[in-house]
Amino acid sequence: MRVGIIGAGIAGLVAAYSFQREGHDVSVYERRAEPNVEGAGLTLFGNAFAALDAIGLGERIRGIANNSLPWLRTGQRTPDGTWLTSMPQETIGQLYSVHRIKLHETLLGSLAPGTVRTGMEAAVTADGSPCVALAATTETYDLVIVADGLHSRNRQRLGLDTGIDYSGYTAWRGVTSKPVNIAGAAAETWGQGKIFGFVPLPDNKLYWFGTRNLPAETSFDDEYQAVKDSFTNWHDPIPECIAATEPHDVMRHDVYDLHKPLSTFTRGRTVLIGDAAHAMLPNLGQGAGQGIEDAVTLAILLNQTRPYDIDHALARYSRLRRPRTTRLWRQSRLMAQVAQASNPLAVRLRNFGMRLTPPQLIGSLTQQLHRWYPPEV
Ligand SMILES: Cc1cc2nc3c(=O)[nH]c(=O)nc-3n(C[C@H](O)[C@H](O)[C@H](O)COP(=O)(O)OP(=O)(O)OC[C@H]3O[C@@H](n4cnc5c(N)ncnc54)[C@H](O)[C@@H]3O)c2cc1C
Repeated sequence: MRVGIIGAGIAGLVAAYSFQREGHDVSVYERRAEPNVEGAGLTLFGNAFAALDAIGLGERIRGIANNSLPWLRTGQRTPDGTWLTSMPQETIGQLYSVHRIKLHETLLGSLAPGTVRTGMEAAVTADGSPCVALAATTETYDLVIVADGLHSRNRQRLGLDTGIDYSGYTAWRGVTSKPVNIAGAAAETWGQGKIFGFVPLPDNKLYWFGTRNLPAETSFDDEYQAVKDSFTNWHDPIPECIAATEPHDVMRHDVYDLHKPLSTFTRGRTVLIGDAAHAMLPNLGQGAGQGIEDAVTLAILLNQTRPYDIDHALARYSRLRRPRTTRLWRQSRLMAQVAQASNPLAVRLRNFGMRLTPPQLIGSLTQQLHRWYPPEV
């Protein structure tokens, strides 16, 4: 089968690997000159690794990731350092953190040379026929996979777009370049309309993020100073994390998700995966994980449907993936409302509720999210 993929993000690259390992002829079109030019860290839970294991990539990704969280105290804290809740060890046993650039490099390095063609803006046809329009030519495939992310123009071309919504908060992200003493803990700290979190990466580095409720497209003259000012006087080692990061290694993005879940992920022989299909807020750390699940599900359904009944497999893909990703899209929004609460009374109630909630309950709810099994074929 000839497979054309638009977008060399995590979802597109995992899809490329999943199809290529089964002997399909795969081309990936990426509009950037370099597919992995920026990125901080990423956390991947057990569900992402179950999917990666299903295509034989799990060990390779574990090999570039850090899995020290189970040995640290994790959970939620207040800005003065008081613990609101501690996560049970079994909840985070399968949680790995990885540098995004390293992940991209590893995924790219797993593909046959020449699979990814960079600097190529690609467009689908509105009726979903499996063609990819490039600047000077049109390529025809048996299947086109759209993995062009949150701002997907191809989702619009296919008439599937529901629009995107600003979450109300912006996020700085960074990776430290000097050692920071985390004193055996790696938590998320929830303040009023702000969150700060960090996790260890390989090579003694930390990936951290800091969020703050702000109008969309707010700009600062000095981003580094802005993030420092946003978390001054927060408990150790939060100011140290920022100070241990080179200013040019700090990035900021306003955070968006889909306005509404899509009614289908397919149009003709064209199929959406990753953020293009179900962009969700990052508050459950599941965006990339869901893109990985999509890519692997699609490949398993198509690889094992013989003779290739592509239409049937695509319909099944959409039926399988929409309920799970819709649930996570909704739960991520809910979690964002709770975590980014800024009204002082709402914050007091939230913190009170969290202190009362048994950690085992939080643990069993999150563990349900982190389970994934390959589709039966
Ligand atoms: C602050 C923050 C923290 C996050 N943390 C986590 C986390 O810890 N764990 C997690 O699982 N997820 C996390 N996410 C979500 C995660 O980053 C995304 O879900 C994931 O990166 C989406 O991958 P993707 O491949 O679908 O899309 P993208 O990574 O957006 O890739 C799309 C690619 O398509 C290319 N492209 C676009 N249009 C075209 C075109 N027309 N032609 C050719 N190429 C095109 C783009 O250049 C890009 O390379 C976080 C998100 C944010 C904002």
